[in-house]
Amino acid sequence: MEAFGALIVDWQKCHGRHHLPWQQKRSPYRVWVSEIMLQQTQVSTVIPYFERFMNRFPTVQAMAAANESDLLELWTGLGYYRRAQFMHRCAQIIHQQYGGEFPQDLEVLQSLPGIGRSTAGAILTFGFNHYHSILDGNVKRILSRLYCVKGDLKKSAVEKQLWALSESLVSIDIDGVAYNQGLMDLGATVCTRKHPSCGNCPVQSICAAYQQSCVDQFPEKSPSVKKKSQDMFLLKVNVSHSCWLQERPDKGIWARLWCFPSFESLDEMNAWCVLNDLENIILTKTIKHVLTHRLLSIYLYEVDVTSKPKTIKGGFWYAKRDQLPGGVPRPLLTLLE
Ligand code: SF4
Repeated sequence: MEAFGALIVDWQKCHGRHHLPWQQKRSPYRVWVSEIMLQQTQVSTVIPYFERFMNRFPTVQAMAAANESDLLELWTGLGYYRRAQFMHRCAQIIHQQYGGEFPQDLEVLQSLPGIGRSTAGAILTFGFNHYHSILDGNVKRILSRLYCVKGDLKKSAVEKQLWALSESLVSIDIDGVAYNQGLMDLGATVCTRKHPSCGNCPVQSICAAYQQSCVDQFPEKSPSVKKKSQDMFLLKVNVSHSCWLQERPDKGIWARLWCFPSFESLDEMNAWCVLNDLENIILTKTIKHVLTHRLLSIYLYEVDVTSKPKTIKGGFWYAKRDQLPGGVPRPLLTLLE
């Protein structure tokens, strides 16, 4: 579909976004950081995080030299913390094995932590001006409507079909930067998930779903997966104006983030209190928190003590406005206030 690429490029030049922070002083590093942050996160949320990261880690070398906890602290509130952990490992590999330069090969890029095929395509296109197809959530939605692609977009067979369509749409000599940016912009501002604005769409005349008046049927809804419920018991130990925080284990929910002592059951929490001479714990709050595959019920207990128990180890006493030692899970930010 030769016309498609030209329509998207022309539209992007007039109506697309040109002032996003990562579009200025473009480099593979800045593109990479923005692409990782933008996974499952909106542009408006990402912008202040991106700017803080660029101030603190202006180069991949600066990021590689930092501690993971420095990245996690800056990432606090952005969610999906594994992205920051992968980003740190990836920066170290690029620094140590590639002399601080991003590889320009699609397969090599894809072999790095946290970089999938679409992110690799975006880094090569925007960072090196070498066009490669992308297939992020926005592009999947556009293609599914453009071709009335049936099936759950999360299924690998459907994804394979979408990749084939994405690659067949344009010739290699296209203005790849404007084209890929145009697809992202079209998905974000016109061909939106809800209420697409087909009246303003540059590809309306070749969009099968629009022509057949069935835009609302694409993409097909994924069958909802019932999330597993899980209880989590947190204990906030207060001494004067500080409370106790400790680092979570390497594996599981909120790996390596800082949190109040947490337990799977009230019995487990009570046993820990006995060990540490803590009495009169009180349930002060119950909150629900949704994770990718789980629905957490968090029970916050608190106990006030007059002096810091010497038996509690492996963490630190945090006072409000102290610098956090690393990342903290989003619900904890609220509980710390
Ligand atoms: Fe999306 Fe509507 Fe454009 Fe089709 S015509 S690509 S559904 S905005």
